[in-house]
Amino acid sequence: MARLPLTPEMLESAYEYLRVSPPYCGWNLPHADHVMFRVMGAKDRFGHFRGRHRRARGDDDFSEIAISAGMVSSSDLLIATMAHEMIHLYQDETGTARGHHNPKFRKLAKRVCAIHGFDPETF
Ligand SMILES: [Zn+2]
Repeated sequence: MARLPLTPEMLESAYEYLRVSPPYCGWNLPHADHVMFRVMGAKDRFGHFRGRHRRARGDDDFSEIAISAGMVSSSDLLIATMAHEMIHLYQDETGTARGHHNPKFRKLAKRVCAIHGFDPETF
């Protein structure tokens, strides 16, 4: 069976789907045109977020969301991984965390899982 062939366009579409759905639609997240999407080959993690607020001088002003093609092998996993990284984006935009799964992150994750039907144990 063919592997899900992830492309940046697929990541962008997953992002936009979530961005217009609750609770993300109330978070004022940047449009997909203002986020960088990258497919990576990591075998040790599903996704990665790098916030624009952490960047060194001279870099562009976009946050980056990367999804691992080696780990994310289904559409439901793609959506769930994107949903996870988008909480990091939200926390970076609001200055409430820098990539950590703090209590605020876990609270938001619980809400996202309840609304979207993700498994909180693996999210
Ligand atoms: Zn995380």
